[in-house]
Amino acid sequence: MTATMQSPIRHDWSLEEVEALFAMSFNDLLFQAQVMHRQNFDPNEVQVSTLLSIKTGACPEDCKYCPQSGHYNTGLEKEKLLEVEKVVNEAKAAKEKGASRFCMGAAWRNPRAKDMPYVLEMVKQVKSLGMETCMTLGMLTADQALELAGAGLDYYNHNLDTSENYYGEIITTRTYSDRLETLQNVRDAGMKVCCGGIMGMGESARDRAALLAQLANLPSHPESVPINMLVKVQGTPLEVQEDIDPFDFIRTIAVARILMPKSHVRLSAGREDMNEQMQAMCFLAGANSIFYGEKLLTTPNPEADKDMMLFKKLGIRPEQREQAHSEDQQEAYLHDAIQAHDQQQRMENMFYDATKTA
Ligand code: SF4
Repeated sequence: MTATMQSPIRHDWSLEEVEALFAMSFNDLLFQAQVMHRQNFDPNEVQVSTLLSIKTGACPEDCKYCPQSGHYNTGLEKEKLLEVEKVVNEAKAAKEKGASRFCMGAAWRNPRAKDMPYVLEMVKQVKSLGMETCMTLGMLTADQALELAGAGLDYYNHNLDTSENYYGEIITTRTYSDRLETLQNVRDAGMKVCCGGIMGMGESARDRAALLAQLANLPSHPESVPINMLVKVQGTPLEVQEDIDPFDFIRTIAVARILMPKSHVRLSAGREDMNEQMQAMCFLAGANSIFYGEKLLTTPNPEADKDMMLFKKLGIRPEQREQAHSEDQQEAYLHDAIQAHDQQQRMENMFYDATKTA
């Protein structure tokens, strides 16, 4: 085995070393990533989170991929900050359906002083439901980070998006060092960090390697590393961007797994544009976290949920959680949903559908 395998937790990766991982043969890279994955995680468990937008659109930042930016006309309906009660009700519904972590996102450059009391109240009340809490609110000062930690916020999401070198091509309204400063403030306040990037924005292979090296060389690895595939939204400057090669995306997951062996690597935005086989390869490469989004929570027909079916086909279970009650609920819910789907399929097989042509 390589030196990488003998000393898995490192914070001193050179760009050349990371590029060398990307350059490995695909099978060798996936094998190494899978070995690393098995040393640190149950390979058949995937962590599941639920996400709610608590303030949508009209963001003053100019992130070229984002439909929520006020700089682009994407037809997105704006929403002001949701009332605390509504957020808590959504969290309750999520909990009832088995989610144990609730992520709340606001399209802000940074939270304003007048927003903070509402946001802190949301954290306290969602936390009091017995759920883990996560927020993404833009840049944070050291004091704001301390306030959020004090209210009980477990995770803070703040992505680096891409390499430092390519960053200026994607965002001009804040700098890479602004991002790093917020990450440091979050760490200093004692919260867990969720930080990753977006692939397929026109960046080079070297930029992908540089982003992963940057993440792996942070003083502590982010506990959660979302690897997103660009969703090309009409009206954003990246709407006509060329697709990333799926193998390059899978390689990025595998390298992230090798560099940050104990982090949850999250298969995040863009999953709806991946077929099942690609998602399965991402899991094989070491991805072990997904967002279910609100669909799982709101659909009256969970048996139709494709994610659940993919879990079943692959023999994947939702990851065990810290809170036994939530774990049991989540397991039970997924079990019921899979059973319901089986039942529906049996029914469909029993009846001839005259509306379908041969
Ligand atoms: S800061 Fe967040 S919400 Fe605002 S434009 Fe950038 S990605 Fe979108």
